[in-house]
Amino acid sequence: MLEINQLCKSFVSGSGEKRIILDQLDLTIKPAERLAIVGPSGSGKSTLLNLIGALDTPDSGSILLDGEPVFSKSDAELAAFRNCSIGFVFQFHHLLPQFTLKENILLPALAPGRKIDNALLKRADYLMDRLDIASLQKQRPSMLSGGECQRTAVARALINSPKILLADEPTGALDQHSSDQLTELLLQLNREENVSLLVVTHATRLASRMDKIYRLTDGKLQLQ
Ligand code: ADP
Ligand code: MG
Repeated sequence: MLEINQLCKSFVSGSGEKRIILDQLDLTIKPAERLAIVGPSGSGKSTLLNLIGALDTPDSGSILLDGEPVFSKSDAELAAFRNCSIGFVFQFHHLLPQFTLKENILLPALAPGRKIDNALLKRADYLMDRLDIASLQKQRPSMLSGGECQRTAVARALINSPKILLADEPTGALDQHSSDQLTELLLQLNREENVSLLVVTHATRLASRMDKIYRLTDGKLQLQ
């Protein structure tokens, strides 16, 4: 479903030196597949996720989703791709403080020209139920715990029913209990929603629950 071929990305450091971060990297992600990526800090894990989510562009190589090259899309198509085909969860939730939890979840669905209809509200209610945050829906993020905020961020990432959920250290800022709870919910939703999971994590408990674990070293992925 998602196919990455010969992906290269380098950055030029402050001293003008070119550093190759991703070096002809290949990866295939199948529908509903669960993959973990591990590797030392600075090895390029976030860079890879940002490229898959089209938040950044590669130097060369291609990413195909269902056979369609992501980086040949127009700006409008790219915006729709980021919004609908891919869900993103980061280490910190990035919820907007002035909005309620439910409003935060609905925000990605508010594309220009799209109205909040009943189906969308039902989808938000369903996800809040599944993530055990329904009773908190009128609260603002500052009133919630780290785990509750992160569960809200997962609901927000899933509101448009993406094909792939990218999670960059999703449990990195959570205590063990909240981390275990989030891990279980991600796995349940992966099965129920048929969404592929690509998780960057230092947490062995989370990584060990995935179908495959890759280590990013020298710009390439090695199956563990
Ligand atoms: P990881 O997520 O594995 O810790 P990153 O993908 O964040 O690693 O970063 C990989 C390397 O690329 C790091 O050395 C980082 O400093 C560098 N890097 C990342 N983004 C940029 C950028 N926008 N400009 C310059 N260097 C960057
Ligand atoms: Mg990172």
